[in-house]
Amino acid sequence: MAATPRAVSRLIDAFSRLPGIGPKTASRLTYFLLRGNQQDAVALSEALAALHAETQLCSVCCNISEADPCEVCADERRDSATICVVEEPLDVLAIENTGRYRAKYHVLHGHLSPMERIGPDELHIRQLVARLQDGVVTEVIIATNPTLEGDATAVYLSRLVGPLGIKVTRLALGLPRGGDLEYADRMTLSEAIAGRREM
Ligand SMILES: [Zn+2]
Repeated sequence: MAATPRAVSRLIDAFSRLPGIGPKTASRLTYFLLRGNQQDAVALSEALAALHAETQLCSVCCNISEADPCEVCADERRDSATICVVEEPLDVLAIENTGRYRAKYHVLHGHLSPMERIGPDELHIRQLVARLQDGVVTEVIIATNPTLEGDATAVYLSRLVGPLGIKVTRLALGLPRGGDLEYADRMTLSEAIAGRREM
């Protein structure tokens, strides 16, 4: 891209690194911003800068939050005896959207995957185990995705948590295999939570 100004190719490169965005889309987005007014581009850059600066991990549940502890962990009306373990922050949102769950969460930030060299230490599993030590939690609902990796993670967690004398459940079948929890429709997800089974 010899004739391309450096600022342009730099943004194209940055967009290309996003999931699902190839070089063509990256170029289209960049030239779209270039044609638009400068204010919009600056607003976008400010939003990007704030993304990391104004968020943090909740030290309790490891969800991404503005405050520590996060709103959910700080909410005393929520049941503290149940923790729903999910892979990603977006899964929390999906379950919240069902309006059926009024307890706590724990976000792993991924799943076990030997292929990608992601072991227990790469996930927020230690923080989860630490939350189970004071005897308050009586049930851990494992809501990892219905995929091979999600299942392997669920089995690993149940072997870890079960011996602590805590009930371990897994979301009911009915969720589409190989899919992501965040894409499950509200009804299916509600039913999966209501029909969870002991592992
Ligand atoms: Zn939290």
